[in-house]
Amino acid sequence: MANTFNGVRALVTGGASGIGAAVTAELVARGARVAVLDLQPDNLPAGVVGFTCDIGNSASVDAAVAAVAIELGGIDVVINNAGIGAAGTVADNTDDEWLRVLNINVVGIARVSRAALPYLKESTSAAIVNTASVAATHGLPQRALYSASKGAVAALTRAMAADHLQDNIRVNCVNPGTADTPWVGRLLAAAPDPAGERQALEARQPHGRLVSAEEVASSILFLADPANGSTTGSSLTVDGGMHSLLLRSD
Ligand code: NAD
Repeated sequence: MANTFNGVRALVTGGASGIGAAVTAELVARGARVAVLDLQPDNLPAGVVGFTCDIGNSASVDAAVAAVAIELGGIDVVINNAGIGAAGTVADNTDDEWLRVLNINVVGIARVSRAALPYLKESTSAAIVNTASVAATHGLPQRALYSASKGAVAALTRAMAADHLQDNIRVNCVNPGTADTPWVGRLLAAAPDPAGERQALEARQPHGRLVSAEEVASSILFLADPANGSTTGSSLTVDGGMHSLLLRSD
């Protein structure tokens, strides 16, 4: 198959770690020119340009997206991947916590997309891929705020897909299950028995292991690929089959 990302100009938020880093590496490997927006745009592959940016702040986003468009000579693909976690039931999170997480996980995607739209409208292969979560479609215990934010990402994805059909901008999202990234590494490191906790987490996955960042990246590139010109408003779940199970039999 032809390398369909040759020369594609891509912007990846949260591209310095985990899933975003895997997306960045794969885009580079497949010929794209990549810019990363991150709070800490460190350790990027050769040729990738990094911009320090907080997607929770409009001035920061507007300046960074404009700089990316100048650096790359336009923008064809936006991967809205940066996001943060939040633990707890609805009884636990304060108003400030709700507003902080929604501001990054939901409004952050709207901000970056809004700033990139004028450039995407000029592209002949425009695509946005948002990183949601299985929390968008399934009830995860102790993740009320995070789930609400990812459900909003899924709904925003469909609405944006509908709004920008005439602009020829495709908008899709991925719903990863538990993926082996520094984020999950930090959660495990905070447990009393990190190795035991990892084993227990792996045992809870239908395929006996965590999803890899590279597997999520592969699905993100599938959705961003100009070869998939008729795929828009879709979500692709990457969770080792977790969502297909009502109950495990073992
Ligand atoms: P990670 O913590 O390894 O990487 C996240 C990156 O986003 C970091 O480089 C961080 O600096 C950046 N970032 C955070 N806040 C930012 C902000 N305000 N502005 C700019 N950059 C910011 O996390 P990850 O596990 O790779 O997660 C990436 C995405 O995948 C998130 O949206 C997360 O919700 C989603 N997700 C992760 C999992 C999982 O199990 N790891 C599962 C489902 C969904």
